[in-house]
Amino acid sequence: MEYTYIVVKPNADERAERIIEELPCKVEKVALHVSLPREFWESFYVVHRGKSFYEELLDFMSSGNTSHFIGYGDGVIKKVRKAIGATDPSKAEPGTIRAKYGRSITENAIHASDSPSSAHFELSVGLTGLLQYGYIDLKRFMELKERFLGGEEVKHA
Ligand code: ATP
Ligand code: MG
Repeated sequence: MEYTYIVVKPNADERAERIIEELPCKVEKVALHVSLPREFWESFYVVHRGKSFYEELLDFMSSGNTSHFIGYGDGVIKKVRKAIGATDPSKAEPGTIRAKYGRSITENAIHASDSPSSAHFELSVGLTGLLQYGYIDLKRFMELKERFLGGEEVKHA
């Protein structure tokens, strides 16, 4: 089943549950309003290591709480990317999540996977980190891993 890893970012976290209801997909709540350290975001966003905005992105993501969800269903990756809008909220189409709740290109309210391979990577790193920092228990970790990763080996953060 196609899935996407969704994170409501610190600038919008207080409104996470309302924001998630605006997405055009079924959603599994993984962890609400949790604080994860910089090291977690270093792994999660490793694809951006070395880019000009990387350090600022890590500072921001570890500056407050975030909420984690799995969106699922046919074509969910594309549908959710369209609903969240462009990376820069000032360029996002009116009505999109980032246009409504984003503050700046860094504080752009929400993350969603951009391909099946990033969804797989982000779900693996996400679940592992949430387990490691005590926000989900081993039973829930195994249940989500079985359901979405189909028993594949999970990469460690
Ligand atoms: P995300 O991966 O968070 O869903 P995205 O896929 O739209 O966002 P990416 O290019 O993957 O954008 O960048 C990851 C995140 O890094 C962005 O969401 C944004 O918070 C931050 N970012 C990207 N480009 C810039 C930039 N030029 N200046 C500052 N921050 C940036
Ligand atoms: Mg991205």
